[in-house]
Amino acid sequence: MSTDGNEYTLNKPDHLTCPECGGALAKVEGDPIPKYVCHIGHVLSGEAMLETQAETIERLLESALAMLNERCELCRQLLDDGGYDKHRIEGLLRDATRTAEWLREFLNDSKPTGRSDYEGRVDIGPTNL
Ligand SMILES: [Zn+2]
Repeated sequence: MSTDGNEYTLNKPDHLTCPECGGALAKVEGDPIPKYVCHIGHVLSGEAMLETQAETIERLLESALAMLNERCELCRQLLDDGGYDKHRIEGLLRDATRTAEWLREFLNDSKPTGRSDYEGRVDIGPTNL
């Protein structure tokens, strides 16, 4: 993965980034409710930051879920086509299916934006894997 063999960590971020554009944010003190301003002018309250972050997180997780579902389909097609290491592709299909189901359930349970439209199940294909 992208950690050069090391495990992922959750170190304290040096600064917050604008959920609209990804630019660095400065906290503007003085108002009764502090605001955050990025270097191209997006201004957000803490509540607006939370809401926008939740939407961004959900969108990114949805993209991951879609990619995992496509990975499952690709594995099934490769298995149907033959010519590949069947044992390896079946293992990849199991891993992708397991991760997709975990993520789908996580998204259904957490609903950071109050939506619940992950009702379809990941097609796990043949059950004899
Ligand atoms: Zn911005």
